[in-house]
Amino acid sequence: MALALDSPVSALSGVGPARARELAAKGVASVEDLLYYLPFRYEDRTRFVSIGDLQPGEVACVRGEVKVAQLVRLRGRPGGLFHLVIADSTGLLYAKWFHSPYLQRVFRHGQSVVLYGKVEADAHRPGQLQMIQPQHEVLSGTREDSTEAGRIVPIYEAAGGVSSRVLRRLVYEALARLEPRLPDPLPEALRCEHNLPERRAALAETHFPPKDVDLDRLAAFRTPAQERLIYEEFFFLQLGLALRRRNARRLPGYGFEITDAVRESIKKILPFHPTEAQKHVLKEIAGDLQKPTPMNRLLQGDVGSGKTIVAFEAAVIAMESGAQVALMAPTEILATQHYLQALHRFARTPYRIGLLVSELPAREKKQTRADLAGGDLDLVVGTHALLEKDVAFHRLGLVIVDEQHRFGVLQRLELIRKGREGVNPHVLVMTATPIPRTLALALYSDLEMSVLDELPPGRTPIETRWVREPAAAGVWEFIRKQVAADRQAYIVYPVIDESKQELKAATKEFERLSREVFQKLRVGLLHGRLKGKEKEAVMREFAAGKIQVLVATSVVEVGVDVPNATVMVIEHAERFGLSQLHQLRGRIGRGRHASTCVLMTPNEVGEEARERLETLVATQDGFKIAELDLKLRGPGEFVGTRQHGYVGLRIANLLRDAEWLERAKHDAFEHVAAQPPGFEATVEYLRQLWRRRYRLADVA
Ligand code: ADP
Ligand code: MG
Repeated sequence: MALALDSPVSALSGVGPARARELAAKGVASVEDLLYYLPFRYEDRTRFVSIGDLQPGEVACVRGEVKVAQLVRLRGRPGGLFHLVIADSTGLLYAKWFHSPYLQRVFRHGQSVVLYGKVEADAHRPGQLQMIQPQHEVLSGTREDSTEAGRIVPIYEAAGGVSSRVLRRLVYEALARLEPRLPDPLPEALRCEHNLPERRAALAETHFPPKDVDLDRLAAFRTPAQERLIYEEFFFLQLGLALRRRNARRLPGYGFEITDAVRESIKKILPFHPTEAQKHVLKEIAGDLQKPTPMNRLLQGDVGSGKTIVAFEAAVIAMESGAQVALMAPTEILATQHYLQALHRFARTPYRIGLLVSELPAREKKQTRADLAGGDLDLVVGTHALLEKDVAFHRLGLVIVDEQHRFGVLQRLELIRKGREGVNPHVLVMTATPIPRTLALALYSDLEMSVLDELPPGRTPIETRWVREPAAAGVWEFIRKQVAADRQAYIVYPVIDESKQELKAATKEFERLSREVFQKLRVGLLHGRLKGKEKEAVMREFAAGKIQVLVATSVVEVGVDVPNATVMVIEHAERFGLSQLHQLRGRIGRGRHASTCVLMTPNEVGEEARERLETLVATQDGFKIAELDLKLRGPGEFVGTRQHGYVGLRIANLLRDAEWLERAKHDAFEHVAAQPPGFEATVEYLRQLWRRRYRLADVA
């Protein structure tokens, strides 16, 4: 029976409820999902090598007849050892599998079979060649439709218990049974312009490339079939962003005025001369805020480049015009700090400032919400708590999202919805993880971009050292000396999920350090599970210099700003990601004094950890670090939260396919501007795709 794209995978043979569940967990529910579950590499099994020509060390595909098939029981190996011997006219080849007793039922004497794997010399039997755990397939007659051999074989990421081998068979069947007429969602004109094949052919050839395919291009994902799917994926991502941008601009916004009073107020809050970069960026923002269409701007700047004050300046412009401002931060600690800084900076202005984080007492939250709705607050600083349903504003004119990369792509949009009926607030999102250009293009192409590419004057570069734990005593001595010179230090302990177990380790370390190492110093502890007021108290004391050594979890990673702190010790630095380490290090080097970052690890660390640590020692350039992080971890983790607006790419790769990304972006934005015939159908396809793939309620 013919399959439709929306047929469930359970319509394929061999897919029962268990497999269907495993596939669904990978986002594969329909035949269409399965067809877009694409191979990440290929193996050339087109040529069979004669057994007599096999060389130890090579990976080869061999065809022969089964001579021996036997399960040998071994003591201590419950699954036993399965032996296979096959022969062609030129010799014998041995194969072995562990823990695979089921193979007894697969192989029989006299069958024609194919093995694919690495050829090895048998150490115990000179001259004898073998394959350990090779890929295998039993040929029935002259089967043309083998998915395992005699062709270029696609390799898939296993979907839970569904192996690459099973996926091959499922995809093969899906392609064979697919209804003959398959609509192509990509606009015909664009497909022709880029000389790309039509969807059905592209899918078929990407899964099962023809024998005469150019192998180099295939490996580089540069065959026309692959490029078509790469372009398609980027196109529909960009089309969604283009629509979002169009919709955001449709509603009128507030055009604020920049008067002398505004300039005066800005002067009042500035404690220093802004850098040229800060001036330039403020000018861009001010230009946007004066227009009656809502601003949508991303402010990028490495850690310590001085984004906060720019945000405060923008807030002044809005507040002077009588609008309210919401500043959202990803952690309670950062929100609290921004709140304290705002109180301080705005002390000589009449603006009323509030804090809204979940951990405040219910009574206080209620009061703040009432003040916001009644227009009795001008600036509210908060966390996700700002997004809750019962938060309403009187006249929300500007939304600022700090450390945007910690939020899902969608969350900034939720705040926008809190604007007054019919009027959209301006939006400024800030990020300290310098996003590699390609990624910024992919994820934020609905935003204008500003860059702070200059650090405030007087900074001395941070010295970064990698120290093994046995040498910790020297590090503690160094901290004592720094504290004696009136500086302060962070000691960060890896606690990733703030679970009881992990917190215990951090707390223990805190107790040990304060009792045995820094008896004479004032040591504080900061972690995510402290009550709101406790956190605030610890931060106040550290900022005021009362706490000299702060033992903390990675809650201090983002945004925390205490310029007098000059030492950052990161324990078990091998457990942190590259960007995270860079962010942590960004807590120091913020003032006039020279700063030192110590990466502490056990004597032995893994290969990847070594690469991360060495990179960090070698460079302080956030952009370089972010590029490398993208290479090491892939873009998925960059985007973070899977639930909200998670953008996972199926075949396209932001680094490898940057050119296609640019083309797709250009085409998608043009497409939305021109709205050629068929536009509505394309948008409808996009809606369904985003709903299915990214679980978004709607595109814009
Ligand atoms: P980030 O961009 O990481 O958010 P912050 O806004 O926290 O950086 O600024 C880092 C530090 O630099 C803060 O202590 C801030 O007061 C200081 N700073 C910012 N701009 C300037 C400037 N133009 N001159 C001197 N110090 C500045
Ligand atoms: Mg900041």
